[in-house]
Amino acid sequence: MAVQQQINKFIHGIGASPGIVIGKAYMVERFKVRLPQKRILSEQVKGEVERFLKVIQQSRDQLAEIKEKILDPEVRKHAFILDVHLMILNDQMLIQDTVDTIRKKKVNAEWALDLTVEKLDAAFKAIEDEYLRERRSDLHYVSARIFRNLLGKKHDDITKIKGKVVIVAHDLSPADTLQMNLKYVAGFITDIGGKVSHTAILSRSLGIPAVVGLEVATSLVNGGDLLVIDGETGEVAINPTEEVSQSFLERKRRVKTMEREILKYASLPAETRDGVRIRLQANIEMVEEIASVKTHGAEGIGLYRTEILYLNRKDLPTEEEHYQTYRRLAESIFPASATIRTLDIGGDKFLPDYSKSNEMNPAMGLRAIRFSIKETDIFKAQLRGILRASAHGKLKILFPMISGIEEVRQAKAILEEVKKGLAKARIFFDRGIEIGAMIEIPSASVTVDLLSKEVDFFSIGTNDLIQYALAIDRTNEHVSYLYEPLHPAILRIIRGVVQSAHQARIPVAICGEMAAEPAYALILLGLGLNEFSMNPVAIPKVKKILRMARFEETRSLVEELFQFPTASEIECYVQNWMAERFPGDFIKCNTEKFKA
Ligand code: PEP
Ligand code: MG
Repeated sequence: MAVQQQINKFIHGIGASPGIVIGKAYMVERFKVRLPQKRILSEQVKGEVERFLKVIQQSRDQLAEIKEKILDPEVRKHAFILDVHLMILNDQMLIQDTVDTIRKKKVNAEWALDLTVEKLDAAFKAIEDEYLRERRSDLHYVSARIFRNLLGKKHDDITKIKGKVVIVAHDLSPADTLQMNLKYVAGFITDIGGKVSHTAILSRSLGIPAVVGLEVATSLVNGGDLLVIDGETGEVAINPTEEVSQSFLERKRRVKTMEREILKYASLPAETRDGVRIRLQANIEMVEEIASVKTHGAEGIGLYRTEILYLNRKDLPTEEEHYQTYRRLAESIFPASATIRTLDIGGDKFLPDYSKSNEMNPAMGLRAIRFSIKETDIFKAQLRGILRASAHGKLKILFPMISGIEEVRQAKAILEEVKKGLAKARIFFDRGIEIGAMIEIPSASVTVDLLSKEVDFFSIGTNDLIQYALAIDRTNEHVSYLYEPLHPAILRIIRGVVQSAHQARIPVAICGEMAAEPAYALILLGLGLNEFSMNPVAIPKVKKILRMARFEETRSLVEELFQFPTASEIECYVQNWMAERFPGDFIKCNTEKFKA
């Protein structure tokens, strides 16, 4: 029952990382695929059981063949994993239980197997022994193979593919993305996810086009299909006609020309026409991105996300690894500074061993600074690494997900302890290193006056601030239409944060994705912010708009915005305002009533 081949079919999702690419589809189905759940008739039961047993045999044959083909003795050492998988495929409980369910409940094989796997998974989860508990992942690996075979999907081997592929997945964790050999990856498309999900952010940093939240990608696409994806508009064409491919390629050429044009702004100062200077910095997660930071004209690193150091491994990064990474960062960006955010695990970014599966609501769970304060050894290793590296350049420390003053105090107390230890051991570090708090939880945003007594700077994280203030899961494509950066509540919150910070004379920057949208950047400027950090690729276009604008007019614009009660009215008003001032770069909103 292969998925019917789609010809010249268009699907729409959320453009997560710009760029247009054409490539063959490569299915990654480590996460759950959409399984058809069908009731069957009594006379279909026999055939369904046979289909299931045939697929079990097919799966065994595939594994046996893979095992046989391993010639490298080093790789052969790991072949026992395949034996474990073969054992699971021979497990009578797995087979018999599924067959019984097909017979008794009269459901299709996919549904029956899913029920069996669920049962076995629960049994594995309850096992005390860690090694055996770990076998759950093998169970899922094997069942994914059976499901793929039942669905008639092809098992492509990424290393065998000539040219680049478009990865098609239900979902991808940052760890999945990084495990791939990125030189073969032209683009990503996923069923779920939003513009600020971590994978979207990561693909933007890597410059790999991506479309997320497509909902039906894994059910419509077959491995090997030709795909054209537009990471800007969110459009994906499956097996397009030659004419359609050409029109995408034509757009790609136009975008490239525009990008070259816009890159001219990278080296110019970010200054408005009435002389207000704005500091534009970059958000990155790998030291390798520094080259791009420089070509795009950033003045330092406003946010260095450190989660990647912890991903794709069983152990934790050592103090030495932290130190070496941050030292390279400090040296390569010097004389500019880099703000290192301590581990922001949880929510959309999780480590395998501290998996979100244990929490009902990971976005509000033991994450970020809460996790660091609890797991002090992990936290201290990172802080020691940062402090030691601070002797080699200009570093700052940023605490994520601060919800109140006590957390800042606890984090600072641990930092002081680490500093004392280093001083005692006569290890150099910057004793005056600045400490900042992310403002991304509503409770922090309304207590900036209190927090300002504890920190040297603030950084507003709108990706999470919008999520928590509007109760909109930033990774959920079903509510992405409600993820509104110009919601009156968000504008009021940002205004309040900026006013309180200014009153306390504490610098406040913004490092959420919002700053990377030119129109939003002007609003943020009008709200009183003049330090923005964003993905480096966005810097030239933001510089361009800032250089075309006047600070005074952005202030008046913001005043006007506070008169509107809804985000859509504000959005439309801003669009018209931009189109009137910069007609070559923006088009009018089609609702007449919100005219500027
Ligand atoms: C934010 O929340 O706005 C932010 C910059 O951090 P992250 O996207 O890593 O959560
Ligand atoms: Mg955040």
